[in-house]
Amino acid sequence: VSFGYEDVAPEEKTQRVGAVFKNVASRYDLMNDAMSGGMHRLWKDRFVARVKPRAGEQVLDMAGGTGDIAFRLAKSGASVTVADINPAMLEVGMERAQERGIDGLVWTEANAETLQFPDRFFDAYTIAFGIRNVTDIPKALREAHRTLRRGGRFFCLEFSTTTWPLFGDVYDAYSHKLVPKLGKLLANDEDSYRYLIESIRRFPDMPTFERMIGEAGFVQTKVEPLLGGLVAIHSGWKI
Ligand code: SAM
Repeated sequence: VSFGYEDVAPEEKTQRVGAVFKNVASRYDLMNDAMSGGMHRLWKDRFVARVKPRAGEQVLDMAGGTGDIAFRLAKSGASVTVADINPAMLEVGMERAQERGIDGLVWTEANAETLQFPDRFFDAYTIAFGIRNVTDIPKALREAHRTLRRGGRFFCLEFSTTTWPLFGDVYDAYSHKLVPKLGKLLANDEDSYRYLIESIRRFPDMPTFERMIGEAGFVQTKVEPLLGGLVAIHSGWKI
């Protein structure tokens, strides 16, 4: 499997992704604002508006990290479980929830590939900027499908490849030159940000990823590109 530019064994990828997020956890939120010029907030707002959580629903925010998606979902009154493989990210998330006076979220360590939740439990499954870090993506998609009830919905927010040509070139130059430098400057960690950028380039394009969601059993799959597909919202239903 690929870890940034390198090909590594699956166990090694999982371990190295773990190290990346352990290293960036304390600076993660700051870096998101710095790298996206605050735009990640708008993408996340749009994403949660698409999910349309409702009071009383059970929602799983997978790879939920420091809670950005979960906090937005929870405003609806839905019961939100934040699951992430990395305890350092969850730790920061729990602190943030406390600072903001948000309680009632369930925080739990989990690998998206092997979920501890029962079949047909959740009304909605969300994963934001998480799936590209997962070693076995088809397996994670099958687990999403298994843990959703019938009529449940799957939503993924992830970087993709913009189809706007000039913008794509500018973005490529920006991400490959500037982002690792920003990582060094703000988080003293150039390598982690180099990985994060390279993993975006390696991620399947929009139609390919939509097909993968279908292969996991979802129907009525859809993709909504943002900024020409720089970021994309993929969704599907379980019937
Ligand atoms: N969803 C949050 C957000 O949008 O701000 C966090 C996104 S962060 C870029 C990616 C997260 O994916 C990290 O917290 C990382 O620990 C988590 N992750 C990576 N591999 C995972 C896996 N196999 N299972 C669960 N979480 C994973």
